[in-house]
Amino acid sequence: MSKLMPPAHPFDDDKLHEECGIFGVVGVTDAANFVALGLHALQHRGQEAGGIVSHDAEQGFNSARRFGYVRDNFTSQSLMKTLPGPLAIGHVRYSTAGSKGPTQIRDVQPFFGEFSMGGAAIAHNGNITNADALRRELIERGSIFQSSSDSECIIHLMARSLQRNIPERMEDALRRVEGAFSVVAMTRTKLIGVRDPLGVRPLVLGKIGDGWCLSSETCALDIIGAEFVREIDPGEMVVITADGVESVRPFRPRKPRFCIFEHVYFSRPDSILGGRSVYETRRQIGVELAREAPVDADLVCPVPDSGTPAAIGFSQESGIPYAMGIIRNQYMGRTFIEPTEQIRNMGVRLKLNVNRALIKGKRVILVDDSVVRGTTSRKIKEMILDAGAAEVHFRIASPPTAWPCFYGVDTPQREKLLAATMSEDEMRDHLQVDSLRFISLDGLYRAVGEDKGRNPSQPQYCDACFSGEYPVEPSDMIEKGFRLKAAE
Ligand code: SF4
Repeated sequence: MSKLMPPAHPFDDDKLHEECGIFGVVGVTDAANFVALGLHALQHRGQEAGGIVSHDAEQGFNSARRFGYVRDNFTSQSLMKTLPGPLAIGHVRYSTAGSKGPTQIRDVQPFFGEFSMGGAAIAHNGNITNADALRRELIERGSIFQSSSDSECIIHLMARSLQRNIPERMEDALRRVEGAFSVVAMTRTKLIGVRDPLGVRPLVLGKIGDGWCLSSETCALDIIGAEFVREIDPGEMVVITADGVESVRPFRPRKPRFCIFEHVYFSRPDSILGGRSVYETRRQIGVELAREAPVDADLVCPVPDSGTPAAIGFSQESGIPYAMGIIRNQYMGRTFIEPTEQIRNMGVRLKLNVNRALIKGKRVILVDDSVVRGTTSRKIKEMILDAGAAEVHFRIASPPTAWPCFYGVDTPQREKLLAATMSEDEMRDHLQVDSLRFISLDGLYRAVGEDKGRNPSQPQYCDACFSGEYPVEPSDMIEKGFRLKAAE
């Protein structure tokens, strides 16, 4: 393996991972510097690699793509000087291990295409569920792909469009695409943002001085001092120039199905989603969980960091004291880029350590955001028992994850998901804990603001990884043998 190519998932943390974060700015001096800061704030959405494309009237388009963290690459003055101009977009990526192999530099976005009316670059968050079929068709018609990424289909579809200008070519291309997409794109003069008709992935609009920006999350607006203007609507395209923001609706309207897992885990707790603080939603999930699954215990401890707000809510509702029973090493990062077998075997202990003095002799409630394969949950339970806990109770801030995501989240195959093959009681026995309870889907809907819980006749969110009800049929996966719930 090349030293330049990082191994995918050097440490298996047994979480679902968002695959991308996107950011774009127009109308500011040295836009690429703002994009680098925005991507730094979105680093939780992808840590394997990042890229920036900028445009300058004299120097045209420039790009840089690098493996690793934004802070380790896009802070170098010598690199940032190569990305001049008032318009730039960027992307951070998480590799899709298992399905397509480790990240190659050619898979790192933004992707760029030169068209007869000028160049354009795009950065995509989500997943195109008919990408295999599109790629086959495009290759048969002469397209030459440079990467293994589904997102590259958009550039080739744009190249084949007969429309007069780039925004119209994008509309044309995206009408052929199925699945989830939030896209930021740029031409020589325009910043463009689009969300798919279901609005599965987030995208927000911000204002900075005389300029504008687009971001996966509001936390990235805060870092550059931009003001949050609004979310891009599902099915909306915005075309931003020096003259302002033009909004068009290129797609047939559909009921929105925003990813409910963004509220549970993917988005940063200091972001705002659907007008609500993500932190507050997560705290409310903990409140619902304490109501649905009470247990007599001495301490409520989060599995850091993602379980923290839900643990606070659980503690507040139950009256059981909150404590930092597990401490996370904040400097773990990619320290061991090619870890030895000995280091790998230390596994979760490299990242998490138990606060022994606090835990000894206590009945402990551990609050985590999800259980995927159960490997980490089991190791954490062992660490807590080794530290002398009297009882271990898991409370999980999402319903059992029993189905894979095909909309831009890296998920193991269905057979590897613990909840796909075991009931809640079987999972409790498998993890060898005193009790295990997940929040119900109704409880989760209440926590995100649906008073009556989930209304199956009118779902407001995508919850397919819990319910198996996919709002867009994953046609490529069905072709590969994936069986939908109704077909089982
Ligand atoms: S399947 Fe799950 S993770 Fe994927 S978009 Fe739907 S709710 Fe989000």
